[in-house]
Amino acid sequence: MGQDTNPERPYWQVKTLAQMDAQEWEALCDGCGRCCLLKLEDEDTGEVHYTRVSCHLLDRHTCACTDYTRRLQRVPDCLRIDCDAQLLSSLPHTCAYRRIAEGRGLAWWHPLVSGSRDSVHGAGISVREQAICETNVHPSELATHIVQWPLEEPG
Ligand code: SF4
Ligand code: SF4
Repeated sequence: MGQDTNPERPYWQVKTLAQMDAQEWEALCDGCGRCCLLKLEDEDTGEVHYTRVSCHLLDRHTCACTDYTRRLQRVPDCLRIDCDAQLLSSLPHTCAYRRIAEGRGLAWWHPLVSGSRDSVHGAGISVREQAICETNVHPSELATHIVQWPLEEPG
């Protein structure tokens, strides 16, 4: 697909993920923190369940990683998000990278659309005040923390 060079339209509407530069790519993250929640996979069905339990490096108020530059060294399960279709489809339905990859554009709560970093929190998309840290949960109790809200989005 050729690149639309219309200067009136923002980059996330005219570029594919692969066409974005590093700054544009980073700005695409809405800061929700949902991808930092621990998930459980049903061994029989392959179904993936979200929990309210977050990675220990996540700041549960700002919903930002507290060691972003070293995250991959410190947390082996941390995702390096790229243009891989399978990886993108494993991200939360609301994730900006997944939305762009699926042609759904950015939602009204996305900071690039709203102009405010707080809109993702106000819309209830982020994990702010909804997550608990993995250091406070025994691994054997993870299943008791399965929740549906990371799969939901407001209209
Ligand atoms: S789910 Fe997507 S938009 Fe939300 S923090 Fe993770 S990478 Fe960013
Ligand atoms: S290391 Fe950082 S980015 Fe990775 S899952 Fe943990 S909090 Fe999220």
